[in-house]
Amino acid sequence: MADIQLQNLSKRWGTFVGVQTMNLHIADGEFLVLLGPSGCGKTTTMRMIAGLEDATEGDILIGGARVNDLEPKDRDIAMVFQSYGLYPTMTVYENIRFPLKVRGIPQSEHHERVMRASATVELDDFLQRKPAALSGGQRQRVALARAIVRKPKVFLMDEPLSNLDAKLRVSTRAQIKNLHHELKTTTIYVTHDQIEAMTLADRVVVMNKGAVQQVGTPLDIYDRPANTFVAGFIGSPAMNLIEGRMTGGVFEADRVRIPGFTGIADGPVTLGFRAEDARIAESGEIAAPVYSMELLGDASMATVQAGGALVAIKAAKDFMAQIGQPIAAHVPADICHLFDAATGQRIE
Ligand code: ATP
Repeated sequence: MADIQLQNLSKRWGTFVGVQTMNLHIADGEFLVLLGPSGCGKTTTMRMIAGLEDATEGDILIGGARVNDLEPKDRDIAMVFQSYGLYPTMTVYENIRFPLKVRGIPQSEHHERVMRASATVELDDFLQRKPAALSGGQRQRVALARAIVRKPKVFLMDEPLSNLDAKLRVSTRAQIKNLHHELKTTTIYVTHDQIEAMTLADRVVVMNKGAVQQVGTPLDIYDRPANTFVAGFIGSPAMNLIEGRMTGGVFEADRVRIPGFTGIADGPVTLGFRAEDARIAESGEIAAPVYSMELLGDASMATVQAGGALVAIKAAKDFMAQIGQPIAAHVPADICHLFDAATGQRIE
């Protein structure tokens, strides 16, 4: 069993808090993604698990055993970074074999293990090349092969796709997902890309400023964001957020009037809804001039200025409107999310 427990894990440098009292249980075989903007503490969390950074407080358990005091090499973890970290003078074959040599795995096993790992990531044709003669995607696959050849208890992957172009990112992402399906190794994966998080993760941990904002399945996080930070971070476009006032079950803001809320106290509130849940209509809860129109391919996106914010509404691909033209959208209460105006926490 290689589950991972983070218990009250914190990292401080002087008074600066990099990671704040993190508590997480990552199940054996789970693919967990740490997601958040630059500087939120993702890499620091990962480095503490790997043993490259000491925790200021808290415990890290792998397979039930506390590893805080173990050297990185004794934690049975393989890491894959954004910069591939390959040895330039070694061939692909030697690069993949290297961890077996370092760990004193019997020589007789090396060839078969290297061949199996390289076949898994489709590198068979490149084994005699040096890294300089490979594309970025191929180099990242060498790094993946080098991680899997050891059969470690845990994979840690820190933005492994961020140096690849958009197309390669998608195919390498699918390969990582496939690899996990095959090997079922407990994996922690760091990214600031929410699409990567949503497509790869069993569960996502959304972080901001060193603190965990929400832990859940990709759908949980998309459908029920715990606060305005998560709502504004997940989705493309992110959830529309409008600050307004609730009075007698009616939400109001500039150019917005949505009736039909029940059990919500009167007062200031932040309302959220997703562009794809609203619908362009003859008249509706939002009526405002068009700020921009974008064709997405299978649909178009109308953005209007309402409630002091830019609000995106997904429309049919043949929907046409001029900038400045007034349009309306049907935004019923039952597609809306409500957040506390002061704390940003979800209230419905
Ligand atoms: P990115 O996506 O940009 O890599 P991240 O979420 O991985 O960001 P971390 O690298 O974990 O962020 O850094 C978290 C915070 O801790 C940042 O504000 C960073 O400046 C700070 N930090 C990291 N290392 C140190 C250090 N050695 N001393 C002081 N502060 C540090």
